[in-house]
Amino acid sequence: MKLYNLKDNQEQVSFAQAVKQGLGKQQGLFFPKDLPSFSQAEIDALLKLDFATRSSRILSAFIGDEIPADVLAKRVNTAFAFPAPVTQIEEDISCLELFHGPTLAFKDFGGRFMAQMLSEVAGDQPVTILTATSGDTGAAVAHAFYKLDNVQVVILYPQGKISPLQEKLFCTLGENIHTVAIQDDFDACQALVKQAFDDEYLKNTMHLNSANSINISRLLAQICYYFEAVAQIPAEKRQQLVISVPSGNFGDLTAGLLAKSMGLPVKRFIAATNVNDTVPRYLDSGKWEPHRTIATLSNAMDVSQPNNWPRIEELYHRKGWLLSDLSHGAVSDETTEETVCELAQKGYISEPHA
Ligand SMILES: *Cc1c(COP(=O)(O)O)cnc(C)c1O
Repeated sequence: MKLYNLKDNQEQVSFAQAVKQGLGKQQGLFFPKDLPSFSQAEIDALLKLDFATRSSRILSAFIGDEIPADVLAKRVNTAFAFPAPVTQIEEDISCLELFHGPTLAFKDFGGRFMAQMLSEVAGDQPVTILTATSGDTGAAVAHAFYKLDNVQVVILYPQGKISPLQEKLFCTLGENIHTVAIQDDFDACQALVKQAFDDEYLKNTMHLNSANSINISRLLAQICYYFEAVAQIPAEKRQQLVISVPSGNFGDLTAGLLAKSMGLPVKRFIAATNVNDTVPRYLDSGKWEPHRTIATLSNAMDVSQPNNWPRIEELYHRKGWLLSDLSHGAVSDETTEETVCELAQKGYISEPHA
């Protein structure tokens, strides 16, 4: 698999390099050079397979012979060891539940697959994952890399500013998971991580890798659950499918759009945000004007400068799609609360992001 840097197309790397490096020069994101696609018949056949087998085929179409199919299949089986059920809420509305992993966040899919890929391509070279967390990512990363050979994980978190459950989820593991409580806020943790990455000597001697960076392996993993969603929908309804994607950094939506570009039948996507609405405003006005980030009930979506957006623009450009076809909307905390109550009345207990 070849990938290029969106900020400097001359920089091209293999999948292994992209996984190890995370970002390219000038903090540029890597994007696949070839976009695999399947025919209608191939899609139909894929949809009949079980989740892990189908996911291996999809990932193999991207990664190619860099990782032998049987090795990849084993890694996928280990990473995706939990289901992603589509639960019906009413006649034509269902929820794709991505919280059945070990840390109850959909970050488990990307985190666990990245961990498997890194341990596959890093060889005997020891790696140190250094990451800052405001709560959820720390738990997903810690569990994903727990007890993996040659990997040490260092997680910085703001003392007293994450929930006791989140703290227990990653501070009680031990082994190769090291946690540091910082007596300051999340931004201070992130600044320390950045400082470490700017230190070339430290970076090269410790072989630092950030699970926070927008690693391509995390995105590829997320493509797979869109196929899993469609597989659970009755065949006669598949052409009508509209998927609303709760978005923060826009990794999840990027993965969905990549799935569509491969031939998955999805009529339309909705880019859904909370009041941190840089993208919906951009789609309306054509102007990219991030505001200050506002804390909301759906805190994993409190992002005003979504890192993955350049990948979405690139995909639309490559496919000749029009951004005006991307539906979008932003909701307030009041709407979030009302909707959670409305869903509860229908017998479905939701959380604020959904
Ligand atoms: C991370 C997260 C999001 C946002 O996903 P992005 O890929 O950053 O857009 C939405 N909902 C939940 C529950 C999350 O954990």
